[in-house]
Amino acid sequence: MQASAFSLSALVADGDEYSRQETAGFLSRCVSRVHQAADGQSAFRLYEEHVPDIVVVDMVLPDMDGRQLMVRIRELDPEAPFLVLYDGYSPSSLLKVLELNVSAFLFKPVSPEKLRMHVGRIAKTLFLKRQLLEARYTLEHLLNMYPSFAAMVEDGKIAYLNRRFLEYLGFKNFEQFRNSPGGLDSHIREINGHPYSKTDGAWAALLTDDPLDRDHMLRLSNPRHPERRPQTFIVAFNQFPIPGRYLFTFTEVSELDEERASLESRAFIDPLTGALNRRSFMDRLAREQMRTLRGGEPFSLIMFDIDHFKSINDSFGHDVGDTVLKQLTDLVLENVREGDSLGRWGGEEFMLLEPRAGLDSAARLAERLREGIAAHHFTGVPRPVTSSFGVVQHRPGEDMDDLTKRVDQALYRAKESGRNRVVSE
Ligand code: GH3
Ligand code: MG
Ligand code: MG
Repeated sequence: MQASAFSLSALVADGDEYSRQETAGFLSRCVSRVHQAADGQSAFRLYEEHVPDIVVVDMVLPDMDGRQLMVRIRELDPEAPFLVLYDGYSPSSLLKVLELNVSAFLFKPVSPEKLRMHVGRIAKTLFLKRQLLEARYTLEHLLNMYPSFAAMVEDGKIAYLNRRFLEYLGFKNFEQFRNSPGGLDSHIREINGHPYSKTDGAWAALLTDDPLDRDHMLRLSNPRHPERRPQTFIVAFNQFPIPGRYLFTFTEVSELDEERASLESRAFIDPLTGALNRRSFMDRLAREQMRTLRGGEPFSLIMFDIDHFKSINDSFGHDVGDTVLKQLTDLVLENVREGDSLGRWGGEEFMLLEPRAGLDSAARLAERLREGIAAHHFTGVPRPVTSSFGVVQHRPGEDMDDLTKRVDQALYRAKESGRNRVVSE
């Protein structure tokens, strides 16, 4: 496309009517519209009204000097291109306008060739600028039609967020977002399962510099609903041909993610009581055993079983039995440490893993639990519910089979010797 293929307008500010008409005449051969002003005031008004692309200013105007007019115009548009006319009276004042970064100085009377050359140069720059703006506008328009969130990042900084993203974050437009403290960082809770708390826009580099070619998962809190769970997004990015420029797209997968989390918990958790199921308790136990092999502190294991549970079912119904199992689990969980693991081993049999606990402290805990359970009123059971406990400490090198056999035997002895008691060995 030629520079002349788009329309340009110009303003000529010159107090000398003859020279102004002449300049305007030359200009009208290369631009589509020419405005004329005989003084600075009317030139400024015309500029405000028409915002011409090129301003030709005589250094000496009847009511002000050309520099004053240019300074006022620059306040409206810091990039307005100026062609400055001067003659024998004005060269000393030319120095003062150098700082205004004018496009060219033209000695009067103006040569039509020189004028055309300078207008051509300005036109070329303006044309490129417009093309860039248009490309930018088209891109932003496309991003705004994009149904998910999109962010354009340049050299690690967000250069644009599409409308949906801005709406989600609670901003009316991109300017508002840009002027807000915290940026996107303050809304990111997690990246690929790791908590995120950076404040310098590091998220973009974390994703683009990841050597593994994988989908990235980001969790964003919703600033308009901070009480809700953070939402999960799959984030993909594309690099522009310009280095350092990326387009990130965010696709929400919260529902899928919640489903995955619930499947995962179903695989680990006993649905009736909320304790770990047998398999995942075994995994914990195996991990704990590995830790002792690497020189970790010894751990203890408590196994307990509800006494005469069959008769609770028989006397008060299976549902009441279920409630007892649930309430007993809650009671135990309230009384153990953060790092302890409670597993449902079978029917009314439970295991409690006590990391970094010796036999004595585990036995004391078992005794506390025994008393707590015996004193608790379980819904629908008008008599005390008691349990029997076996406690053992893991021996160096002992495998899991031997360990669980030993704790089972301890529990068996607690039952044998009258129930509602703790046997540790
Ligand atoms: P002991 O003191 O010797 O442990 O006697 P017990 O009656 O507790 O032991 P037993 O093994 O004879 O009976 C366990 C009962 O637990 C039998 C079974 O129906 C019941 N049970 C197992 N799982 C559940 C469950 O999920 N819900 C209910 N309500 N009952 C269960
Ligand atoms: Mg029992
Ligand atoms: Mg049993």
